[in-house]
Amino acid sequence: MHELSVAESICRSVSERVGDARVEEMVVQVGALSGVNRASLEFCLGEAAQVTGLKLERFSVERVPARARCECGETYEADELMQPCPRCGGFSRSFINGEDIVVSKLVAVEENDEAN
Ligand SMILES: [Zn+2]
Repeated sequence: MHELSVAESICRSVSERVGDARVEEMVVQVGALSGVNRASLEFCLGEAAQVTGLKLERFSVERVPARARCECGETYEADELMQPCPRCGGFSRSFINGEDIVVSKLVAVEENDEAN
């Protein structure tokens, strides 16, 4: 499953960043054109955290719209690939973003802090 490999790579890179710290909260944003299903990525993150040993307590996945720039000059948010320009109704646009998968929020807490 595509989402599982995405989830594993997210967990690995977060692990590298936070080390042994516990992740209290993580928000992952998936672009509307990333081809990743929000709900299934959310499910897979839980699995991937166990596989990679990441202490992931709370997390959520948000779907964010893509940004498109039409040849008429309009820039608009597109929730899917086949969304026409709201100004001219055309499809002569290029996408500025929308394929990205990013960790937009990460709150990590060192385990030692709690023991004291
Ligand atoms: Zn247009």
